[in-house]
Amino acid sequence: MDHTISKKLSRFLEQSPSCFHAAENMKHSLLEKDFEQLHENQKWQITAGGRYFVTRSDSSLIAFTIPEHAFSGMRIMASHSDSPTFKIKENPELETDGHYIRLNVERYGGMLCAPWFDRPLSVAGRVIVKAPSSGTFVTKLVNVDRDLVLIPNLAIHMNREANNGCKYNVQKDMLPLYGDLAAKDTFMKTVADAAQVEEADILGHDLFLYNREKASIWGASGEFISCGRLDDLQCAFASLEGFLAGDKKKYLAVHCVLDSEEVGSGTKQGAASTFLYDTLTRIYDHLGLTREDYLIHLADSLMISADNAHAVHPNYTDKADPSNRPYINGGIVIKFNASQKYCTDGVSAAMFRDMCRTADIPLQTFVNRSDMAGGSTLGNISNTQVALNTVDIGLPQLAMHSPYETAGVKDTGYLIRAAQEFFR
Ligand code: ZN
Repeated sequence: MDHTISKKLSRFLEQSPSCFHAAENMKHSLLEKDFEQLHENQKWQITAGGRYFVTRSDSSLIAFTIPEHAFSGMRIMASHSDSPTFKIKENPELETDGHYIRLNVERYGGMLCAPWFDRPLSVAGRVIVKAPSSGTFVTKLVNVDRDLVLIPNLAIHMNREANNGCKYNVQKDMLPLYGDLAAKDTFMKTVADAAQVEEADILGHDLFLYNREKASIWGASGEFISCGRLDDLQCAFASLEGFLAGDKKKYLAVHCVLDSEEVGSGTKQGAASTFLYDTLTRIYDHLGLTREDYLIHLADSLMISADNAHAVHPNYTDKADPSNRPYINGGIVIKFNASQKYCTDGVSAAMFRDMCRTADIPLQTFVNRSDMAGGSTLGNISNTQVALNTVDIGLPQLAMHSPYETAGVKDTGYLIRAAQEFFR
């Protein structure tokens, strides 16, 4: 079972080299299950018993099912579609020393820089063209599906300090090599060909680097899975699988995957935006429910904010809290933080624990060491727009924000079961 799930997760990760592809792949899974796509810029026709989804900016997606009969609250599971990477700048080509063409990139999110060196990379994202017939803007997803660029390290002979801790300047150290001089003025043509559009028709783009290395299931008995973007596509994948399998009869069930978490969520499609609020209130309006109904339901609802968590690292066991020590394949991690960067509190922890205990799903806990700041996630940010009981959870992983992260093959299944239970 774990193997089947890991294979399916591997496929999803490999087919989702950018946040746009992740949203597109989820969209296909939903269409296959007879979900109807709604558009924010068109009138909605929705009814009790229906199943729908809506996207914003091609990178955030909210799917929901409405129970046949009157319901008393919402079950929302939120994760994020984006991962730390490098964004291709406008006018990307840099001719260097009359012999090389490099690409000019900037940081997207807080990545570990070192593992981006010396491995085949490529480019994926979207381009925007104008349809000649209707004059409307059309988004085309693009994946240059071959080894295209690489960020070469500086030889140890030229930096004897390389193994004594390195500071990376993105503008100086992290620019990928694209070709020799013959490659001049061909980069956007390469992108256009991959997107099957004319280069001259591209009016805008959001293009990112991605690691070409395929997912791997490894270890003494195949207990580990490694790939890029496990944070947070492992949770997004488990949320969708559980959402599709769950019964969804008692609550308004909402599977929500948001972009921009790695850059603070402050975009029109991120957790700080009105996307979730707009979608929920629009559903209530269409069902003839009042604003007071919405508020009453909200008070009786629960959100799972699912974003991967740090497992105890075998080489740095001292970096973990002394009494909250999550391990790979040890189960779902509930995340706590007194400053409420994670919005788990006694109540939401109790609700989630009770559910997992009943379903016999293993749980672990994560709290930062008191002398370490730790990260943040989307739960508390989303609560500024839609405030409800929220538990922050994640799956234990190593090497978070590396382009090749590591997690456990059993844990994905635990979260799928928890999501299924949650949406029951
Ligand atoms: Zn994350």
